[in-house]
Amino acid sequence: MRNGRRGKVLGAAIALACLCAFAPCVARADGPAPAEPAISAVRNWSAPSNTRVVFDFTRTVDAVMPDSGSGRQLVVRIPASGLVTTPGVPRFLAVGDSAVDSIAVVTEPSGATLTLWLAAGTSFRAFSLPASEDKPFRIVVDVTRAGAQDAENRRLASIAAAKRRDRVRLVYIDAGHGGDDSGARGPGGVLEKNVTLAVARELAGQLNKLPGVRALLTRDSDFFIPLRQRYKIAEQARADLFISIHCNSSRRRGSGSGTEVYFLSLKGASDAADRDLADIENAADLVGGVPPQAEDDVVGVLYNVRRNSALERSQLLAEELLDHIAADRRVESRGIKQAGFAVLKSVEFPSVLVETAFINNPREVKLLKDPEFQAALGRQLAAGVVSYFTKAGVQLGAPSAPSAPATPSDSSRGAAGSAVGARATGAGSH
Ligand SMILES: [Zn+2]
Repeated sequence: MRNGRRGKVLGAAIALACLCAFAPCVARADGPAPAEPAISAVRNWSAPSNTRVVFDFTRTVDAVMPDSGSGRQLVVRIPASGLVTTPGVPRFLAVGDSAVDSIAVVTEPSGATLTLWLAAGTSFRAFSLPASEDKPFRIVVDVTRAGAQDAENRRLASIAAAKRRDRVRLVYIDAGHGGDDSGARGPGGVLEKNVTLAVARELAGQLNKLPGVRALLTRDSDFFIPLRQRYKIAEQARADLFISIHCNSSRRRGSGSGTEVYFLSLKGASDAADRDLADIENAADLVGGVPPQAEDDVVGVLYNVRRNSALERSQLLAEELLDHIAADRRVESRGIKQAGFAVLKSVEFPSVLVETAFINNPREVKLLKDPEFQAALGRQLAAGVVSYFTKAGVQLGAPSAPSAPATPSDSSRGAAGSAVGARATGAGSH
């Protein structure tokens, strides 16, 4: 993909780095860290398919536990003498959410025992995460509900079937971060994961008012989803567009401003700052305990045609979204950019990542947490989506005549020839 086919792919003007994945996300027990190793927090998040339990520690400890398995009870032994709990950490936690029944923390002079009682039919995966910039050492247990994968497959298949039946364009909106990955933190404890969800809901609400468009969220509450799974959800539901919402943050306190929209780069980022930003957003998976995955080894003519077509249309989508956000004038435009964001790697549909504004900037964080601004962003982005569909030649609320012309989405799935044509004449111009 050439940079700047439309002359709007800009490099970042100043050096900055998003801190998205490294911000502290935990309300943990107050008070000074004790001299001895301690369990400093026990937290849990319920997602539709699984529940995640995280134990925080003030130091790295060894844990004896199975990597994975099933059963009604999981016992984690930590043979660290002198291990205590900080004030406020519960000894017993009733969860009762159909994956985890309850959790018990028992400390003895020789160490600690963490016991999780699990619901019937569940399976679990347990792992530790090293301490990082501002995250403590953690032991994480993911508990998957009985039949969760089958239920999810059925849910997404029914979305895809309804889309076909109703002849609508399906837009998947991805609220960045979630659960124990809180994203960047702004002044006053404003968390990126909450802002992204609020903006995503506003955008979905606006799009769902339009005839011929349906919008859904990859997450509609506070839980972690691995980056790859975010676009896989949209692929399974046969989405036509994918929009991931984030907030930027600069390492320099209070600095950085403006909004920018990214699409995938295959050859590296627009510049070093954009590469840093992608690295940090991609680190969300490390925070979530997802092992690094090799690139898909899918190489072939059809794959490349799809990928190029998706990239061309992603650029058009990025341009239309930014044009409509920039009209607001409260946040300056930083331009369209490219970087290797893992969440943008689908070849099935155009996908972009919107860095709405800088959450560490005192002026912009006031906007980001303001429901009126969130609603305005939703309206602007929705207008950008409509503009994209228009320029891509996609009729919304199209008559149900079977002879309707192929759309970019249709061509990307099947007709390689028309996708090649799109590349020669401009994104979506067929
Ligand atoms: Zn982010």
